[in-house]
Amino acid sequence: MDLNYGTEMEDFRQEVAQFLDENWPLKGEEKDWPFEKAAAVFRERAIERGYLYRSIPKQYGGSEQPPDVLKGQVIREEFGKRWAPLEARGIGTMMLVPTLLERGTEWQKEKFVRPTITGEITWCQGYSEPGSGSDLASLKTRGELIDGEWMINGQKIWTSGAHLADYMFCLVRTEPDAQKHAGISYLLIDMKQPGIDVRPLRMMTGSADFNEVFLNDVRTPEDWIVGKRGEGWLVSRTTLKYERNSIGAAQQTGASFAGLVKLAKETKIAGRPAIEDETIRERLAVLEGYVKAHQYSGYRQLTKDSKREDAGIINMMMKLFSTEIGHQTAKLSMDLIGDEGLLSAGGAELGQRSSSAQGWIGQYMYSLGIAIAGGTANIQRNVIAERGLGLPRDAAADRSSGK
Ligand SMILES: Cc1cc2nc3c(=O)[nH]c(=O)nc-3n(C[C@H](O)[C@H](O)[C@H](O)COP(=O)(O)OP(=O)(O)OC[C@H]3O[C@@H](n4cnc5c(N)ncnc54)[C@H](O)[C@@H]3O)c2cc1C
Repeated sequence: MDLNYGTEMEDFRQEVAQFLDENWPLKGEEKDWPFEKAAAVFRERAIERGYLYRSIPKQYGGSEQPPDVLKGQVIREEFGKRWAPLEARGIGTMMLVPTLLERGTEWQKEKFVRPTITGEITWCQGYSEPGSGSDLASLKTRGELIDGEWMINGQKIWTSGAHLADYMFCLVRTEPDAQKHAGISYLLIDMKQPGIDVRPLRMMTGSADFNEVFLNDVRTPEDWIVGKRGEGWLVSRTTLKYERNSIGAAQQTGASFAGLVKLAKETKIAGRPAIEDETIRERLAVLEGYVKAHQYSGYRQLTKDSKREDAGIINMMMKLFSTEIGHQTAKLSMDLIGDEGLLSAGGAELGQRSSSAQGWIGQYMYSLGIAIAGGTANIQRNVIAERGLGLPRDAAADRSSGK
């Protein structure tokens, strides 16, 4: 692992800092614009300079820069320091776009990439079904090719954002007689098609971001398939890689921990700031050890990536580490907030990141869910044990899921 960026990267850092001095926040009349409008204009300028959507070709709306993970990291760090908008987040941008760039056809990239990264269209992910979560390859939703169109019947569950999405990328069984992994295809569906019934599921946070999605004779054109017929499992592995990487990023754990330290300074225990309490200090110190280990593992992953070497087991452990630290951070915040938390519980919002009691309760609940999304922590442990450490396979588990 190399912890120095080197002179070339430090010069690049200066260049990025200067760009930010001049462009964020926007100056003149534009400085009073609402955030989303200002962010859209700023992103356009950042794309022009080659700072955002670097891996996306210009013809699809990106800045098409040569792969350089160190430059990418420097940009994230400098933008982060000034709270400048990075790439728009979302299932479409983080998961589908890289999948289409790797495995989509030319017309699919032309049609979907640009409007997805600008936020014009949004996506949801139709993988999980009742009874097919960890063992995803057992999914039963059927797709039949009839008169040049796929006809889809079945049910998806836990579909985040389906009630708002314009399109869905989903896995369906198109080859019922093939072995289970080989019978799946990866289809794109317009959510306005007749036959789609989206029913929100209310969560313990009070909001309803998840949905059940019922598909009854839903049609999608024959060429709205990513990869070949029966190769959907392979395509889904590409999407999953990007999903786990985005959840596992070390910046998020560092930011949450910094918020926790602030909370410990502001909260009083027996008339003194909680951070002066011995037990709290010890818990913070232990947690900081994990946060640092996660951060340095991220740097190690980066160093390996920059040399185009396989980061091996580190790739497998980042998501598990990230969700575990997030949960422990939120748990300690609950202990600090104490009774105040009971009074605020009603309005907690999923994923809300504020230093208020309500924000921490939202974060606590979010930390439980994110350990399950994109493959549960237990499945992740199995993957690390078997593929990373070479331990014997778990005889009791269904080997075939991979999730
Ligand atoms: C916040 C969030 C967002 C989500 N968003 C989406 C989405 O947008 N689209 C989508 O398709 N899905 C989504 N999901 C669903 C998610 O992918 C599944 O919940 C997950 O894969 C687990 O499947 P399951 O819920 O069926 O649990 P199960 O697979 O039934 O697992 C239940 C328990 O058994 C354990 N277990 C199962 N098999 C094994 C094994 N072999 N070895 C050891 N332990 C095992 C699991 O770890 C878990 O603790 C989301 C989930 C969450 C929480």
